[in-house]
Amino acid sequence: MSLNFCILASGSSGNCSIVWTEKAAILIDCGCSIKYITENLANLGISLSNLTAMVITHAHIDHINASTLGFLCKNNIQIYLHEDAFEDVSRKYGKKIEEYINMPFYKNFNIKDISIESFDVYHRDNNVSKTLGFTFSSIVNARQYKIGYTTDTGRICDKIIRNLINSNILVIESNYNRIMLDSSFRPYANKKWVLSGWGHLANEDAANAIAEIKTLSTNKDSLKYVFLAHISSHHNTYELASRTVQEALLNKGISDIKLFTAKRKQRCPTIKIS
Ligand SMILES: [Zn+2]
Repeated sequence: MSLNFCILASGSSGNCSIVWTEKAAILIDCGCSIKYITENLANLGISLSNLTAMVITHAHIDHINASTLGFLCKNNIQIYLHEDAFEDVSRKYGKKIEEYINMPFYKNFNIKDISIESFDVYHRDNNVSKTLGFTFSSIVNARQYKIGYTTDTGRICDKIIRNLINSNILVIESNYNRIMLDSSFRPYANKKWVLSGWGHLANEDAANAIAEIKTLSTNKDSLKYVFLAHISSHHNTYELASRTVQEALLNKGISDIKLFTAKRKQRCPTIKIS
């Protein structure tokens, strides 16, 4: 048995990841074209007919590509969408979509041998009223392993930290560098929202969260792999995000995390726990 994880794409141009075992394959968001997703899944040895379900974090366009969502619905991929986000999705992507979202969303639920827990994160605007983080857990060789997944949150609180403690793999956004954001060409209102407690997370905030989760985790394999996600192309760089987080972790005496930066149009290395 194995628990596998791969980020297919991450950032404001599209977000999509996959968690899979021998029994289930779950997409997280579908912010890319179906062609991109299909090709990348094929490279992982997964066909669309192998997909069991998709969970949705929130209704922003970089997390839901309308035609991809329609395609997945019509191909009977079960869509897990929180009821509080249902209005966001149907408002944006059309009432027709509703008939395909046929699975009720529970806070905690199982898809085959993968246990999923969801929790609220802080990411909201005029189009989005609800955004979720997730954990995916599965038993491999009589041990439970966990993937923590939190992109798109304007801040981190104790409750989010508690949900992510003891994750073996952690995905967390590291969206912006404050100096680059201040000097970027983005409209003032957009910058103000990014900086607000309902927008996105700065590199330093990501570093502090990772350090806190690592410190509070009791599992010796916790945070073995950390992916910095949703790195902005306008007010951050992959190198800057990685260096800021790596240095902050080293300053706190944490040196045993393998850190990755999730790219916009390039699949990350697959992590296989077996
Ligand atoms: Zn968003």
